[in-house]
Amino acid sequence: MATAQVGVVILGAGPAGLVLGNLLLERGIDCVILERRSRAAVEGRARAGFLAAHSVRVLTEHGLAAGLLARGKTHTTCLFRSDRGEFTLDYGKLGQGEAHTVYPQQELVRDLVAEYLRRGGEIRFGAEAAEVTGGTVRVPGGADVTGRYVAGCDGHRGSGRAALTARGVRTARRDNGVSWLAVLVAAPPSLDAVGYALHERGFAGHMARTATVTRYYLQCPRGTDPADWSEDRIWDELVTRMRTAEFGPLREGTVLEKAVVDLRSDVLAVPGVGRLWLAGDAAGLISPSAAKGANLAVLQAESLARALETALAQNDRIGLARYAADCLPRVWRAHEFSHWMSGLLHGPAGPDDDEARYARQLQYARLESLRTSRAHQDFFAENYTGI
Ligand SMILES: Cc1cc2nc3c(=O)[nH]c(=O)nc-3n(C[C@H](O)[C@H](O)[C@H](O)COP(=O)(O)OP(=O)(O)OC[C@H]3O[C@@H](n4cnc5c(N)ncnc54)[C@H](O)[C@@H]3O)c2cc1C
Repeated sequence: MATAQVGVVILGAGPAGLVLGNLLLERGIDCVILERRSRAAVEGRARAGFLAAHSVRVLTEHGLAAGLLARGKTHTTCLFRSDRGEFTLDYGKLGQGEAHTVYPQQELVRDLVAEYLRRGGEIRFGAEAAEVTGGTVRVPGGADVTGRYVAGCDGHRGSGRAALTARGVRTARRDNGVSWLAVLVAAPPSLDAVGYALHERGFAGHMARTATVTRYYLQCPRGTDPADWSEDRIWDELVTRMRTAEFGPLREGTVLEKAVVDLRSDVLAVPGVGRLWLAGDAAGLISPSAAKGANLAVLQAESLARALETALAQNDRIGLARYAADCLPRVWRAHEFSHWMSGLLHGPAGPDDDEARYARQLQYARLESLRTSRAHQDFFAENYTGI
């Protein structure tokens, strides 16, 4: 039974759905967000932290950046370590001269929920979209919701994406074959910059989050169970791979969270058909090696809001076709860079045979080129901060 008819039904209260909802309300378009989890769960989920300059501009232009401008931290450098030494790239002075703003995703989500509600928007927490047919969303245990359009912002395993692939929309995908143990620790950052450590035992990464919480990554074999990684094992491995004996100690603290992330990417051939349009991880998953996922979600939400406004006001789907045409090249460019980063960060897995030695030397050559070539550094900076 359909009990509600709105302009846009949005699935998912992640960065994509919440930015879209706020932008639609700003344009006077009625919408409702269906979110399968509780408000506390959504606002507590720590994931991304690096916002590109474009994301900050979008959020600022639409009155969504008060929190990140007040509490976010600007980052303009990153450093690379290997057995051949350490170097820092001041990417804020390279490429387009842009910076990252470090602001934990859960804090951004909290800000976006608060602003959406302040603007009069409706979010139904605990409402799982089970199926999307035309403009109607089936919610088990609740009333169906019908919109003139449905925006699937419900992530990679959501119903929006499932409905599109069921209609024959094809995917392009790549599995990097690598996984990361993603760890959040209760400790201040140990470096002023993002740190990428290349090591024969696998990649290790250091990412600042706040003054009291830091994210670390450890490359691990596919199928790793986080339960096998005790706190001691995590710190031993970080100390080894970050080469603290040579470059100085890490500030250790309690492990707050640990999860395994498989580095996989995919992109749907088109991000929508008919009345169903996707944004964010629903439209394509990008491996976290270049920290692009949340930024693509903001970019797509902004474009989709514009396209839906035209579609609703003028009953004209040209804007939606343009959404696909505008976004896909930028999405692919982010994927290309993410893939490039993955090649830089991950050495060969498996036995030390001829192929592994070849792959290791390519990794060193790429790192050396980044250390010494201004053209290569500009390429890095432009793609690292751009979206
Ligand atoms: C460890 C880690 C670190 C990362 N670091 C970065 C980074 O530094 N920078 C960066 O840009 N990106 C990063 N990312 C990626 C980034 O977090 C995601 O790309 C981003 O969350 C995508 O936003 P989204 O709104 O599309 O999807 P999500 O954040 O996944 O939100 C989707 C929402 O939909 C809800 N939902 C799912 N199914 C349904 C359903 N059927 N019905 C209703 N609701 C549903 C979910 O509960 C969720 O709240 C990282 C990811 C991970 C895992």
